[in-house]
Amino acid sequence: MATPNSPRKILVTSALPYANGSIHLGHLVEYIQTDIWVRFQKMQGHTVHYVCADDTHGTPIMLRAEKEGITPETLIANVHKEHSADFSGFLIGFDNYYSTNAPENKALSQGIYNKLKAAGKIATKTIEQFYDPVKNMFLPDRFIKGECPKCHAKDQYGDSCEVCGATYNPTELINAYSAVSGAAPVRKETEHYFFKLSDCEDFLKAWTRSGTLQGEAANKMGEWFENGLNDWDISRDAPYFGFEIPDAPGKYFYVWLDAPIGYMASFKKLCAMSQQGADGNQKVGLDFDEYWKQDSATELYHFIGKDILYFHALFWPATLEFSGHRKPTQIFAHGFLTVNGEKMSKSRGTFITARSYLDHIKNPEYLRYYYAAKLNSTMEDIDLNLEDFVARVNSDLVGKYINIASRTAGFINKRFDGKLNPSANNAVIAEIKAAAPLLADSYAEREYGKALREIMRLADLANGFVADKAPWVLAKQEGQDALLQEVCSDALEMFRLLTLYLKPVLPKLAGEVEQFLNVAPLTWAVVDASLSAQHSINAYAHLITRIEPKQIEALTEANKESLQATPVPPAHSEQRHAQHQQNEANASAEEPAYISIEDFTKVDLRIAKIVNAEHVEGAEKLLKLSLDIGEEKPRQVFAGIKSAYDPATLIGRLTVMVANLAPRKMKFGMSEGMVLAASDERGGPYILSPDNGAQPGMRVK
Ligand SMILES: [Zn+2]
Repeated sequence: MATPNSPRKILVTSALPYANGSIHLGHLVEYIQTDIWVRFQKMQGHTVHYVCADDTHGTPIMLRAEKEGITPETLIANVHKEHSADFSGFLIGFDNYYSTNAPENKALSQGIYNKLKAAGKIATKTIEQFYDPVKNMFLPDRFIKGECPKCHAKDQYGDSCEVCGATYNPTELINAYSAVSGAAPVRKETEHYFFKLSDCEDFLKAWTRSGTLQGEAANKMGEWFENGLNDWDISRDAPYFGFEIPDAPGKYFYVWLDAPIGYMASFKKLCAMSQQGADGNQKVGLDFDEYWKQDSATELYHFIGKDILYFHALFWPATLEFSGHRKPTQIFAHGFLTVNGEKMSKSRGTFITARSYLDHIKNPEYLRYYYAAKLNSTMEDIDLNLEDFVARVNSDLVGKYINIASRTAGFINKRFDGKLNPSANNAVIAEIKAAAPLLADSYAEREYGKALREIMRLADLANGFVADKAPWVLAKQEGQDALLQEVCSDALEMFRLLTLYLKPVLPKLAGEVEQFLNVAPLTWAVVDASLSAQHSINAYAHLITRIEPKQIEALTEANKESLQATPVPPAHSEQRHAQHQQNEANASAEEPAYISIEDFTKVDLRIAKIVNAEHVEGAEKLLKLSLDIGEEKPRQVFAGIKSAYDPATLIGRLTVMVANLAPRKMKFGMSEGMVLAASDERGGPYILSPDNGAQPGMRVK
């Protein structure tokens, strides 16, 4: 690592969130982790650019826009606005937050593809894929469902079974159907474009072992190399929302081809903004090539979740290498978030969106502090324990850190007109200053938990000093003014140093402290400076309040409620697909208590006219019904309603039936559907009746 004396040029990215859903607390682990690192490096005096973008392409975006009756462009513009507001609410200091659906990205993606092609790394192959004959489109694996070939669970995705965990090809599914139209998919041949990853094995083996990855990640790569690398399918057929492949009409880049190039595109846009001077003087003249050329002397770091390691540690460096660009300096992968020790859960209200946190807890720095206290440099999962969150924020930030200023600033303001007069020599201040190199190393190595434990140990020392000198006692004693001023001045110097150390984590609070202490923005270099005699501080205003447990209750309640109104869209299906290909753990949140609207609409409910009803010989509970739902001939349905209805009274009535239930062979004949009826211990069954006007065959939805 370079010393602060040799400024480095650093480009940092966080993974691109998919433009198909809201930012939640799981996402924020990464953005907060990255932002702290970026702020720390900026405080060191390095030139750092932090860019990101929405990942906007692919089938899920196209289909969701269609379902909402808007264009994909409108959908992604809305989501971009929402994501930007959420990130700024959590003080994520992107230098540019862009979109992958941008002209820079299109030009870069097509240019890189052309270079890969010229380097002989692109091949075409005719493959057979499932095709939806109703919707006239090829189906990604996640949009094909059917019965698991291993355990026979129904309605499983085309790539893996959520019941038994088996992975397989969609062609192996039993009774496959399209999740888009419900139609039985047909197999159809199509030509696809492949990036010859198998050709890049020597390069990738060397690169992944050159210290660019964490140890655990490099080991994971080793497993993948053992299994052999497959060529990477980089094309999708129209209709698709994305960029067209040059000289290949109707063929589009798979979303994962252009997504990481989005890092470059976002930086390219930042360079253009700097030429126009729109970003202030600091970034004027930013040179794209200096950062991306093959032999660049600048540094490039990607922060990612461990689930997308395959894309960033294999596809991405190979793409860069063989298109004549620099490779990442390092890739930093982190684990997933659990809440209260479990996967985030919609039913427990722990699937918490960024927005609802901001609405209920207000202060983003509480979460930043808590995540930082839990984060280290490994790929381990981190847990947000909501009770511990309240306790730790209140005890560390309010009880230890802010306490130092709140117990001493008032005396300086009231008794000494805001003027300081520190001691010449204070052992606690010396110890706090001496911790700077260790803390800098901890931040640089992403060992934030270690850094915060040390900072809180130092805060304990400072509080011990204040308690020991007891300024509130000195204030009441004759002739102790000089000592009172010195003790409080020293305590505020300790507070200044602790604020400096906490600033990467708590940038907004640090800004308020800088105002209060009347000092320039704190950088790492001013550890060596001190608040001098005669320096004046401003009036102390209350800086932070405690979190109340009832705020947490309201937050989890709100996340239970909001989910009933707005089902969270499915995870980026193609990312999940890739994940399952690699047999990775399923990163998606569980959803036990809710079904999606797609699940509901799978049930075909129809208004049915009971054209005949009769007893069945030998059946104790059943009546045989003939139901007209506007089809050529009535359906025969056996219904367990004999105890409640005389068949003669049913004839001519309208009711509701499930029309797409698989026909079932019963002792008395085939039953071709199901009639809905209500019952519990108070009585029933009671069949349903529609309001006047409903006609046989109408869809109930
Ligand atoms: Zn299964």
